[in-house]
Amino acid sequence: MAENKDNLTRRKFLAESLWGACAAGLGGVAGLAAAKNAGKKTAWQIDPNICIQCGNCATYCVLAESAVKCVHAYAMCGYCDLCSGYLQPDPKALDTGAENELCPTGAIKRTYVEDPYYQYTIDQSLCNGCGKCVKGCNAFGNGSLFLQVLHDRCVNCNECAIAAACPSGAFKRVGAEEPYLLKGADLT
Ligand code: SF4
Ligand code: SF4
Ligand code: SF4
Repeated sequence: MAENKDNLTRRKFLAESLWGACAAGLGGVAGLAAAKNAGKKTAWQIDPNICIQCGNCATYCVLAESAVKCVHAYAMCGYCDLCSGYLQPDPKALDTGAENELCPTGAIKRTYVEDPYYQYTIDQSLCNGCGKCVKGCNAFGNGSLFLQVLHDRCVNCNECAIAAACPSGAFKRVGAEEPYLLKGADLT
C-alpha cells in the first residue's frame, strides 16, 4: 500500500530534528571534552564502521561505568515496529514487555509514532555500552544504533584499556576538537 505522504513528511521531520538534537548534544559534550582534554591534541573514539560489538566496551573501561554508550542516528532509523535492536529474536510480543527487550538494562525507550512506526531513544544514564542493540540493529536493521566514547565521561587515558582489548581495531585517536565519529550525520 502506498504510504501517506504526510506520514513520511512527519517521520522525516522527526528524524531530522531528533538527530540534530542528538548531534548538538554531543557537540555540547565535545565542548566539555575540550576543557577536560586541555593540552591534549587527540581523544579516543570508536569508528562505528569497524566495531564488531564484541562486548568489551562494557567491561574494559577503567571507569566503574564505561565511558562508551550507545548513540542513535535517527536520520538512518527505519522506525521499525519489529526493531531488531530493541526486541529479542523471536519476541513473544512486539511490545515494551521487559521479557521482549534485548537491552539488559532497559536503556532503550520505545515510543509510538504512528501505525506501524515507533521511535527508539537511548537513556544514556542506563546504557553500559554492551553493544547488544547495535549488533541487533546491524544484523537486520539500518545500523542506526552505534557506540561512541562520550567525552563528558572519558578521562582520555594515554593508553585506553578498551582500545588495547578491542579485537577489531575500531578504537582510534581523533582530533580533540571534533572527538566524535558519527554515522548518518550527513543523512536527512
Ligand atoms: S543494549 Fe547495551 S549498548 Fe544498547 S542501549 Fe542497552 S546497555 Fe546500551
Ligand atoms: S580512554 Fe580511559 S576512560 Fe576513556 S574509554 Fe578508554 S579506558 Fe575508558
Ligand atoms: S572493544 Fe572494539 S569491537 Fe568491541 S565493542 Fe568496543 S569498539 Fe566494538
